[in-house]
Amino acid sequence: MNQKERCLKFIKDKNIEVYNNIINDDYITNEINYQCSKRHINNETIYKLITNIIAYKNLYKINNNTECILCKVKKQHSITYIPNQMIKNNPLIHLSPGKAIDNSCFFVCHHFILEINKCIRNNNKFNIVFDFDMYSFSRMLFDTELAFKLSTILKDIYYSRLETIYLIDAPFYIKPLLQMMKNMFSDTIYKKMKHITRQEYIELLD
Ligand SMILES: [Zn+2]
Repeated sequence: MNQKERCLKFIKDKNIEVYNNIINDDYITNEINYQCSKRHINNETIYKLITNIIAYKNLYKINNNTECILCKVKKQHSITYIPNQMIKNNPLIHLSPGKAIDNSCFFVCHHFILEINKCIRNNNKFNIVFDFDMYSFSRMLFDTELAFKLSTILKDIYYSRLETIYLIDAPFYIKPLLQMMKNMFSDTIYKKMKHITRQEYIELLD
């Protein structure tokens, strides 16, 4: 038995319902392939990841759609995967919350997951570029819960695929807050954050 077969057997023995749920799911099968290609992989960890993916798929209505259900009608969100744009050979997903029309938690998370899935269909890893342009303080305050949800999604289902989160031109007043979170949550996505200026960002692009 190879690693993937062992992993599938582990999932089947542990929970037949989960197994039946994933066996015809292209995204999850691809994810299992990716996880099993790594060395020192633990089946329990993969199982946990897969159940998280299923939970988020249900929560944010990620069915077989590849486009956000709001943006399909009229573009409302500013989270975009741009193929061929990379830093250190890893593709980028741009977030410009200051330019979004809609900032409801449900739809932004729905859009965010679909955009990342689009990106990792062809890539193992990705970077996030978080652009503070036009992002006002009052809107940031309003978006606190949303920011928390997006961070949790990254941690729960994309942690091993996320390389770096580049924060472009973060205003001085939020830097101490981010530093504090970095120290407090040392094992989470905060440790993958990097502050850069717009000029540095342009120079980093491959
Ligand atoms: Zn959208």
